[in-house]
Amino acid sequence: MRKFFIISGCFVLAAGLLMSCNDNSQSAEGTKYVMVIHGGAGTIDKSTMTPEKEKEYTEALTAALQAGYDKIQEGSSSLDAVQAAINVMENSPLFNAGKGAVFTHDGKNELDASIMDGATLKAGAVAGVTNLKNPISAARAVMEKSEHVMLVGRGAEIFAAANGCDTVEPSYFFTQERWDQLQRMISKEETNHAAFNDFDPKNSRISGVSDKDKKFGTVGAVALDKQGNLAAGTSTGGMTNKRYGRVGDAPIIGAGTYCNNATAGVSSTGWGEYYIREVAANRLSSLMELKGLTVADAAKQVIHEIETMGGNGGIISLDRAGNVAMEFNTPGMYRGTVDENGKISIFIYKE
Ligand code: ASP
Repeated sequence: MRKFFIISGCFVLAAGLLMSCNDNSQSAEGTKYVMVIHGGAGTIDKSTMTPEKEKEYTEALTAALQAGYDKIQEGSSSLDAVQAAINVMENSPLFNAGKGAVFTHDGKNELDASIMDGATLKAGAVAGVTNLKNPISAARAVMEKSEHVMLVGRGAEIFAAANGCDTVEPSYFFTQERWDQLQRMISKEETNHAAFNDFDPKNSRISGVSDKDKKFGTVGAVALDKQGNLAAGTSTGGMTNKRYGRVGDAPIIGAGTYCNNATAGVSSTGWGEYYIREVAANRLSSLMELKGLTVADAAKQVIHEIETMGGNGGIISLDRAGNVAMEFNTPGMYRGTVDENGKISIFIYKE
């Protein structure tokens, strides 16, 4: 059964249940979710969104959830579901991951990803890769086929290719929209005489980043399989105009991704530097483990703390009982859930 709902008002009546869209963290009573995904948080404004674009995003998110759900239904692992869902988003030009990755200052695409298994606490990650079609698949290969957790750059590319991951020409990642986004950011930077890493302590913002481009299109997924095991993953092109081999939170276990059957699976999207300093994904899990918070309250607290530090973005999480959290402090976050009956729900805006 494929049903989806686009939330644009303040309330939605879904399957007879009233759920406030300012409070997406609350699972509908009695609903067991088996997967939650995000396609990035940021300046996602209804006024600048066309119905066509909205439809494209909704369809892509639905396809990702369906791919993950199909894996769960056939009895595959939550890792398979996470990888399948993220592969769909990586292959879409809409998201800042895989095909749609943003450009570095030098006009290149350097991709990061990580994955974690909640049953074994095994994890894998790649960072700064330029020719791997699906970085999340490479991260999984690192987890399952090496004795390491994180491989970067050329070494990661050689390892992934040798272990069956698809390689592409770097030009595969070119999209006009991302290129134009980079040009806008560079010219704004020149106007402001500011560099990417110039930090303005007054407004806690990196100079030169225009509002229009403050969109974190990273993708992530958390799944719960029929065996009761959780898995989580995150994949990104990083932040537009990044320099000097900058790596964000997405490939860092504990910041961009964390998963533990004892608590929850977590994936982050947002201004990576803040998520690293917050150790955001692990922080959510620790708040559940050590303070007894629900997944919803833990997600709220993490985003509150990131906001207090001056950062912005979102976080998704799913616990072993099927409770879901989708929290963010930006105008919107592409996100969605699928429950154990296959009912898909898609959300974009805050209100
Ligand atoms: N968190 C990512 C990073 O900082 C960006 C994003 O979420 O889109 O690299």
